[in-house]
Amino acid sequence: MKPAANFRKHSARKRIAVIAFTLVELLVAIAILAILLVLLSSALKAARGAAHGAVCLRNLNQLGLALTAYCGENNDRFPSNWDGTRNWSGRLIVDHFLEGNPSESAAGRSPTLGCPAQRLVSGVGPDVKTYGQSEVIGGTVGKPLTTARSALRNPSQTIILGDGHFYAPGKYYAGHINGSTTPPDKDHQGASNFLMGDGHAERIENNGWLPGGSGQYWAK
Ligand SMILES: [Zn+2]
Repeated sequence: MKPAANFRKHSARKRIAVIAFTLVELLVAIAILAILLVLLSSALKAARGAAHGAVCLRNLNQLGLALTAYCGENNDRFPSNWDGTRNWSGRLIVDHFLEGNPSESAAGRSPTLGCPAQRLVSGVGPDVKTYGQSEVIGGTVGKPLTTARSALRNPSQTIILGDGHFYAPGKYYAGHINGSTTPPDKDHQGASNFLMGDGHAERIENNGWLPGGSGQYWAK
């Protein structure tokens, strides 16, 4: 073979090698980018979940203060889940223990009365109430209760209110919760947040609050 032809062949092989190497590099770079994007999106998701959890617990603490003030002016009793005119949240607003719209419609209630995680999952508006009061504390529409705080045997372990139960067709949440028929929806990565009888708010994992729908958290 002539030296010139040999040189051309050598040079072409080199070019192919360079292109092949560049392609491998490109694929590696794409793979690394894809992994980084996956990591970043799961980190963002986790950060958003943590932020929603913090806002939810802060809301519940605020509602705890409003309920303490309400009890202070109502013979130490919690509001009922339906007093014939208002549910517990409407009662807090109408009696000026909480700022918001006293209308009993699903929308326009108060930012404090809704969990950002639940609003995101269910797609309801930013001012729709999502929290429900325990039926053990406030009864049901047909059988309202006004439980006295002093009647709670184990306040720090008694659910007063918390993340609610979504009724999709009406785009609103149940005004009350219990461990079975209207259970909280566990929208905080499988957990729910609750306000307990001693005024502290707490995250309870999975079905920790639901031993057969009746356990300690749902007893007075
Ligand atoms: Zn929540």
